[in-house]
Amino acid sequence: MHRCLSPSVYWRAVCTTLLVAPIAHAAPKHPIHSPRSAKSAPAHAQSRSSQSHHHPKRHSDAVFLADAESTPAYRYAQLDVSSCYAEVNRRQLPLRREAQSWRGISAPMRFTGPVNGIVFRTDIPAAERSSSPFELFDCRLALALDDFSKVLRAAGITEVVLSSAYRPPPKSASEHDEQGKRHAGGLAVDVHRMAREDGTWFKVDRDFHGRIGAKVCGKSAPHPAMPEAVLLRRLVCDASEQHLFQSILTPNYDRPHHNHFHFELTPGVKWFIVS
Ligand SMILES: [Zn+2]
Repeated sequence: MHRCLSPSVYWRAVCTTLLVAPIAHAAPKHPIHSPRSAKSAPAHAQSRSSQSHHHPKRHSDAVFLADAESTPAYRYAQLDVSSCYAEVNRRQLPLRREAQSWRGISAPMRFTGPVNGIVFRTDIPAAERSSSPFELFDCRLALALDDFSKVLRAAGITEVVLSSAYRPPPKSASEHDEQGKRHAGGLAVDVHRMAREDGTWFKVDRDFHGRIGAKVCGKSAPHPAMPEAVLLRRLVCDASEQHLFQSILTPNYDRPHHNHFHFELTPGVKWFIVS
């Protein structure tokens, strides 16, 4: 606990967790925001159980937006189920509602075809795809992916291979931790590789050429010369600039993300992270 005297952002977050954990059930489900400055990191009051490897541990890249409510990510994340289904209908997206209900995901949907020319799929055998939980997306995430598909299309991408969007939460999960959030809520997707129309594959593991802790986007970020790395960064940074997701995690974030991008909608927050 002596480490709680450390001024580092990481340890402050950990210490906050340790200190608030016993009363976490009474705390807000999402990070408490400090108004210190527009660029200050969220003072994080996360519960221990929410510290999955996908949860941002470092907040040095978190940015609060004064006009967050006007961003696509914020608007989508706040949608209720019926409003989201109505928007999917209005856009005539190739999605169908999942008849079966799954724990934690409030509006489960599956893609039935390409979105703006982009196929989103797992590597699961074709015969099993239509029943696999890993190809379920919450309706709200599907709207964000519809927007993202235009970014992908502009770069000539035609296919996106993911390990999963939804992942059923562990049986021990309660509504106070994983359930309904991130992958357990169908609100996050892990993208491992993408194909361009000329047949070139871009694999996050092989082609991103990142370094843990390095900035991903912006003028001060490293700019690898390899065209594959340039393209992958462009996709991530365009999605970030357009605020299509609250969290985008890359191999620069930590070792578990060495082989995929994590794109996530986080309801109720006004910060954005690309790391
Ligand atoms: Zn993920």
